Amino acid sequence: MNSSITSTPALQRNVPLASHTTLRIGGPAAYFAEPESEEDLAKLLAWARREGLSFFILGNGSNVVFEDSGYEGLVISMRRFRNDLIKMDLDRSQVTVSAGVSLARLVRFCQESGLAGTEFLAQIPGTVGGALVMNAGFSRHSGQMSEIGDIVQEVRALQKDGAPVMLGREDLEFSYRHSNLDEYLLLEAILKLWRRPKDQIQNEIKANHDFRKTRLDITEPNAGSIFKNPLGPHPSAGALIEKAGWKGKRIGGIQISEQHANYFLNIGNATSKDVLQLIKEVQKAVFHATGITLEPEIRIAQKN
Ligand SMILES: Cc1cc2nc3c(=O)[nH]c(=O)nc-3n(C[C@H](O)[C@H](O)[C@H](O)COP(=O)(O)OP(=O)(O)OC[C@H]3O[C@@H](n4cnc5c(N)ncnc54)[C@H](O)[C@@H]3O)c2cc1C
Repeated sequence: MNSSITSTPALQRNVPLASHTTLRIGGPAAYFAEPESEEDLAKLLAWARREGLSFFILGNGSNVVFEDSGYEGLVISMRRFRNDLIKMDLDRSQVTVSAGVSLARLVRFCQESGLAGTEFLAQIPGTVGGALVMNAGFSRHSGQMSEIGDIVQEVRALQKDGAPVMLGREDLEFSYRHSNLDEYLLLEAILKLWRRPKDQIQNEIKANHDFRKTRLDITEPNAGSIFKNPLGPHPSAGALIEKAGWKGKRIGGIQISEQHANYFLNIGNATSKDVLQLIKEVQKAVFHATGITLEPEIRIAQKN
């Protein structure tokens, strides 16, 4: 082991990545760390650079599949990163929040502060950083998607070489499950919200919760929607998969949900190979049946 590792905080070896993703798939990370401060993070990045290692930034792992062979570099989990940082400026109706804070915690904090605008995030598993990169969104009213990009004012981040950067609203681009933030390591964001009575915010959160619960009550490990819904006047990805006759089908340990055909479930010892194969087969079948190519929403973290 290189001597500089010993001064690098909380660096672990051969950590199984399955336990850090909601789909519960993935071999070991050669190196794994959960930095709690910017100082720790800077040390880790500098060390990875010196060692010539690639690194992967992980939030809650709710939208990521790691390969069965693992990741041959450094995986940096942001779940503990400054997760005490969440503060409000009531006069400006703004909240400053660390990228490592969970969406559930953010929503609770805003509700307790009487600030509205994050309620749609309440049942989306993930961290603020992961949600920003993915432009996470949800709405129970069809055709009226709320996305985290709608409420972001500013993002503080590091470039991949470690240089700090502030991204103002004019620098940020968001579209359906897409942002221009992939190139950055996100540290914190300022969200622009609005005042609303706390009980009304609570009612909105509950309505979202009830809506999701009645439509989707899945207990097996999964990563949410596997494919993006095609843009334009097309049926949803789930409806297309159903139309192609793949609802409920399975490859190895991974099965397409009977409740929602855009969810793949790990029904026991699924491998990344199973997932990748099922993605390919579904894409082929949907294209054959409808002429539409489904684009994956989940991220495959390939070793490089
Ligand atoms: C049951 C379930 C339901 C879901 N429902 C929804 C839904 O309704 N709407 C929706 O949009 N999504 C949904 N998802 C998908 C997922 O929750 C979101 O995409 C979420 O925003 C991912 O956040 P994360 O912290 O888990 O990110 P991860 O999955 O860990 O990472 C996602 C991407 O972001 C990058 N990343 C993460 N943190 C940082 C950071 N700090 N800096 C730079 N890059 C970073 C990663 O490298 C990766 O490329 C669902 C998932 C599950 C399991």
